[in-house]
Amino acid sequence: MGDKKKKKSSAKTLQTAREAGNFGKKILASARTAAEEGKPIAWSMVDWWLGGTIAKAMGVELCYPENYGAFCASVRRAEPYLDYAESDGIPNTTCGYARNCIGYTRRLQENNFVIPQDAPGGGMPKPLFLLACGAVCDARYKWFQSLGRYMNVPVWTLEFPQTGVAEYYLAGNKEENIKFMVQELREFVSFLEKLLGKKMDWDNLSERLDTIFKTHQLAHEVDILRKSVPSPAVNTDFWALMIPHLYLPDDPEALEFYKRVYEEVKYKVDNKIGAIPNEKYRMAFSELPPWHTLGLFDEFAEKHGIAFVIESWNYHAPSPLPESEREGITDPLELIARYSYHKFNESAPTAKKYCMDPTIFTAPYLKWVEEYKVDGLFCHPLMSCRPATYTLMHLRNLLMEKFKVPSVVVEGDIVDLRVFNEEEAHAKIDAFIETMDYYREIRRKEGFGW
Ligand code: SF4
Repeated sequence: MGDKKKKKSSAKTLQTAREAGNFGKKILASARTAAEEGKPIAWSMVDWWLGGTIAKAMGVELCYPENYGAFCASVRRAEPYLDYAESDGIPNTTCGYARNCIGYTRRLQENNFVIPQDAPGGGMPKPLFLLACGAVCDARYKWFQSLGRYMNVPVWTLEFPQTGVAEYYLAGNKEENIKFMVQELREFVSFLEKLLGKKMDWDNLSERLDTIFKTHQLAHEVDILRKSVPSPAVNTDFWALMIPHLYLPDDPEALEFYKRVYEEVKYKVDNKIGAIPNEKYRMAFSELPPWHTLGLFDEFAEKHGIAFVIESWNYHAPSPLPESEREGITDPLELIARYSYHKFNESAPTAKKYCMDPTIFTAPYLKWVEEYKVDGLFCHPLMSCRPATYTLMHLRNLLMEKFKVPSVVVEGDIVDLRVFNEEEAHAKIDAFIETMDYYREIRRKEGFGW
């Protein structure tokens, strides 16, 4: 047990990735400073830049409970919060991020909303409101509602329509969805204006959007560079770098930072410097990581020469919004709606090509296996997350059927270390090496390009 409690973070291979954690500290510190100064704070779900950007343009400081759950897990201090949520009746199969947040909020309430001294990373201050998002799963709107048991603050849920692949291609579907999302965003602006007693700052919003597009353009170019052999960066780099591009892409500091990320990765590609010195196998990781044990991937690299070359579709910046979609759009709310919708649907053509559903969590990997020359897929089914788990079995079947790419399944959880067996993960990967060798040979005989 003593050993299990010890931190097991990854060393990361990029210098910029080692610095990226500062953006996580900045999120929490800025929220606490705002709270001290009496400024508005909200807790926000990851919403793929839908509503968070609008709230920030209105002067609201945001912190992100999903990111806080990942942070608590990475320093191995989530367990007391998980226990505290469970002892108040929350099932242990509820999302790990949610349980961490519910346990934290219960402690916060019992401390009269003064952040407890021992809160990891300094903790999140009490919010003025909660910003939920209907995309992806039920936990992402029910969890914030359930916090009403501990604090009486409004919850605003952003709708995010997700259609199946065939429905996506129905005439008029996309434009109807965009229209609906814009309407929802307009109502969100009204809610904020009433709550904060001030008007929306549209210029500020447009500036932030412009910065998002620039930061994301760089993040996307870094993803493209990662197709190189040997891979210039790996999954553990990405999971650190995602903090600025997922949570703070509208921050000019994140944009400047990403210029350095791009330069570092480009230098490595130009000089054929691999992230790991002995790259022998190139793997993809799906979908959400074991935040408590990221050091495991350093061990796989050292022991077997495995470079995790691509991972976690949902955390990546999308490709830039096509010019045809930006042309003539003057309403920033429409631009936001189009961009978030684009993130979720840009792989629809791949899904259509392979006659598969759903697009999210699944179709992007069918492009990536070829583009990134993937030898094997690491599937990480989560005890507490259905949407990022049920897709995995479907994905592994498709990769084998269409590309003769095998997969290994290692069960665990994003936050809950108690359901993860590190020794078993090692044993499975040890055995999987032979499987990757075998299918490499099959792909070669069948004329695949890698
Ligand atoms: S998608 Fe999974 S990890 Fe994310 S909020 Fe839902 S249950 Fe939690």
